[in-house]
Amino acid sequence: MRFIDHLVVGGSGNAPARKSPVFNPSTGQIQAEVALGDAALLDRAVQAALAVQPAWAATNPQRRARVMFEFKRLVEANMQELAELLACEHGKVVADAKGDIQRGLEVVEFACGIPHVLKGEFTNGAGPGIDVYSMRQPIGIGAGITPFNFPGMIPMWMFGVAIACGNAFILKPSERDPSVPVRLTQLMLEAGAPEGVLQCVHGDKEMVDAILDHPAIGAISFVGSSDIANYVYQRGAANGKRVQAMGGAKNHGIIMPDADIDKAVVDLVGAAFGSAGERCMALPVVVPVGEGTAEKLIDKLLPEIHALNVGTSLDPSSHYGPVVTSEHKARVESWITKCEEEGGKILVDGRNFTPQGLEGGFYVGPTLIDHVTPDMDSYHNEIFGPVLQIVRAPDFETALSLPSKHQYGNGVAIFTRNGHAAREFAARVNVGMVGINVPIPVPVAYHTFGGWKRSAFGDTNQHGMEGVKFWTKIKTITARWPDSTPEGGNAFIIPTMG
Ligand code: NAD
Repeated sequence: MRFIDHLVVGGSGNAPARKSPVFNPSTGQIQAEVALGDAALLDRAVQAALAVQPAWAATNPQRRARVMFEFKRLVEANMQELAELLACEHGKVVADAKGDIQRGLEVVEFACGIPHVLKGEFTNGAGPGIDVYSMRQPIGIGAGITPFNFPGMIPMWMFGVAIACGNAFILKPSERDPSVPVRLTQLMLEAGAPEGVLQCVHGDKEMVDAILDHPAIGAISFVGSSDIANYVYQRGAANGKRVQAMGGAKNHGIIMPDADIDKAVVDLVGAAFGSAGERCMALPVVVPVGEGTAEKLIDKLLPEIHALNVGTSLDPSSHYGPVVTSEHKARVESWITKCEEEGGKILVDGRNFTPQGLEGGFYVGPTLIDHVTPDMDSYHNEIFGPVLQIVRAPDFETALSLPSKHQYGNGVAIFTRNGHAAREFAARVNVGMVGINVPIPVPVAYHTFGGWKRSAFGDTNQHGMEGVKFWTKIKTITARWPDSTPEGGNAFIIPTMG
């Protein structure tokens, strides 16, 4: 059995007391075991990070950027291997796994420009003989705790920026698909990052708690489900750390009567069922405005859904693969049952779905449910599977209020040909990321990613300038170099510019 070990300076030491199975969701078989670490292992990683970080921070930013350039080259050179490894542990298809890695790599591309980004601010002559300037300095040791659903992209969101800014970084990926994060860590070392600048530790709650409590870790970035995000935020902040903690989602797609329905349907099917719905920016709720729109939408959705091919992640003809574990399959199916009990009308039922010859895999068929209403638990909660719920709205204002009032506020999309409606929607909707005729509005790397409400706890978004702010502290220097001793004695009054 393949064993996935921690990647820390000096090796992981004795054989770990605890391990966790890593499944191939396409077949249901255990393909590896991953070590589950503890506070002692984490402390060893932190000590190694502390030893190397000052020299890394003092390395000039162009040299740090060159490591990022080389890392990018290495990831690109190993793309096929990484994507297949990812697909076999996560269950998403290989083409989608490449997208997962590529979107993370785009943040690394942004980080290649770190010398420019870190230049700081300068005011010449803020007063007589006085200059004011600011510099961004690294936090020191940062940590990232990442979810199973983007094992390539989300670690790179975090360490791409953190390392380029001069921090040392400890990554704690999901124990369900840990191999790609380990490979990325190896490639960063191969790219020239000094040992200890990036380390990868594995574990569950025990390791997460050790990270939250370690006094030398200054900033923690978390992405995962909302209850755990809230816990991480509270415990990390109570320990005096900087914390950003992204949580779950329930994104809505609003279909206005004037939308290009054919195009919207194609977009919706990809956004609802791609990656088996296991994306925090998936579109699991569609809101047709007006009964006519609803009927047209359903007529066009049904054949598209029936044409979906669900199969193994390595089969290039699969539109999507299995969900991540058998427990998650059971959970998604129980939400479908719950929605039916609550009064939802199932138009396509994905329960008890098994592609031929793949009886052991964790598959859920595409599911479409009509007449879902905002009072249902199955609407209120994240299902995180290939399930599309239809909530009919009589008018624009009702459609706008649905995502605005929902507990989650990650992403939302509106499909319309009406620029005024789109503009109003974008301005008024109470959600962090908005798509206009764009089903999955994940911002590009040099902008910034983050939801609102229970989709994100703490401050500042992921990547772009928000990421740079998160992984650095700003220091502001006020310098006076008078050419003679200033007149007057000691000042007992606060200096102003008046
Ligand atoms: P998860 O919350 O189960 O796990 C996330 C991380 O927390 C993992 O590293 C895991 O080991 C750790 N963890 C698990 N249980 C813990 C506990 N009790 N205490 C402390 N740490 C614990 O999430 P997941 O199932 O891996 O990922 C799916 C979730 O992540 C979904 O809710 C999805 O919406 C969300 N997500 C959000 C975003 C975003 O940016 N908002 C992006 C991707 C995924």
